[in-house]
Amino acid sequence: MLIQPRFRGFICTTAHPEGCAQQVKEQIDYVQSQGKIDGPKNVLVIGASTGYGLASRITATFGSGASSIGVFFERPASGRRTATAGWYNTAAFEKAAHAAGYYAKSINGDAFSNEIKQQTIDLIKKDLGKVDLVIYSLAAPIRVHPETGEKFSSVIKPIGQPYSNKTVDFHNGTVSEVTIQPASEEEIRQTVAVMGGEDWEMWIRALKEADVLAPGVITLAYSYIGPEITHAVYRNGTIGRAKDHLEATAKSLQSELESLGGQAYVSINKAVVTQSSSAIPVVPLYMSLLFKVMKEKGLHEGCIEQMYRLFKERLYTESTPIDEEGRIRIDDWEMRADIQDEVTKLWQQVNTENLKELSDLEGYRKGFFQLFGFYCDGVDYDKETEPAIAIPSIE
Ligand code: NAD
Repeated sequence: MLIQPRFRGFICTTAHPEGCAQQVKEQIDYVQSQGKIDGPKNVLVIGASTGYGLASRITATFGSGASSIGVFFERPASGRRTATAGWYNTAAFEKAAHAAGYYAKSINGDAFSNEIKQQTIDLIKKDLGKVDLVIYSLAAPIRVHPETGEKFSSVIKPIGQPYSNKTVDFHNGTVSEVTIQPASEEEIRQTVAVMGGEDWEMWIRALKEADVLAPGVITLAYSYIGPEITHAVYRNGTIGRAKDHLEATAKSLQSELESLGGQAYVSINKAVVTQSSSAIPVVPLYMSLLFKVMKEKGLHEGCIEQMYRLFKERLYTESTPIDEEGRIRIDDWEMRADIQDEVTKLWQQVNTENLKELSDLEGYRKGFFQLFGFYCDGVDYDKETEPAIAIPSIE
């Protein structure tokens, strides 16, 4: 069938298998063009099919020769409905990994559930024995608690008072003012339950109890801080509360892993276009300005450049540099004073009329569609394409 982008707001309901495969190949090529990393050998990535999790899996495999198990929640194609991008990404990743001689298997299901945790443990025991790196890179809108059955929904809202700022409709380039009402205590609690550290802790406990964590194991989750402009809606809002909880969880996991000589870290990553970040108001406009400034200075990075630098220059070095809160910082270039000063100046001036000139909205838009395999050079979108693509390790 002919596969074209069909989108509503920040959701694209179709994905192109060849375009997704090309995006994965470009990430693999990037890692292979860089030096080898003396890194992990057996890796579990939770949230492995898109964004930072996928880039982590590619870096571990093609940078460090690691065997990997990836867990995610994606949908295969059915009838005239395409699969999700993460499904196509994983199919392409596994094929490339197997062709290069690396072990890679995947588990598709709800990572918050006890069943998927058990399936993962069984697979580690059967095929790898133990894992020496566990990456937790979930971004989810809902979570069903595995013990109580309570269903939590996360919201992106400020706390305490309404927040107004500029935002952009990145499809038509209209800059407008958005006002977001503050979250209730209940919304805060539910957002922390979805995006905080409880499930990460449950994973690490279950893996430790099953004795599948290797001595010296590292576990890592991802967080974001960002500039003042977005603080009310991100870091000081509901999602920031969840990130505070995630960062506090790293500290309790650190003691949990002491007996194994292991480490638990949160890495603060930079803002990149992913399915999750495009859903946050205000942030896409900030990113369009940020990309313009970082590209001009030759400092622009996407998920794969960030993850390669994280592994090579932070995690697998003689000693991992951390900030005063104990966090790894790989958002250092984004947060540089010269970058942020420039972005703040542009933020004050930007409006619908001058958006094209002041920002890299086109780069942002292209990045968004490429998440779903569209707008990729060399892919013929007028050609009939088979949507039913298998992931080799999933029957
Ligand atoms: P993403 O949307 O690209 O990836 C989310 C992953 O989680 C996918 O693999 C998806 O299949 C998986 N997933 C979602 N719900 C699941 C479930 N119930 N069970 C199993 N898998 C499930 O997101 P991302 O932007 O790469 O975010 C990953 C982490 O990085 C998050 O913690 C996010 O806050 C953090 N982060 C993102 C940015 C950014 O700009 N995108 C910046 C800094 C930190």
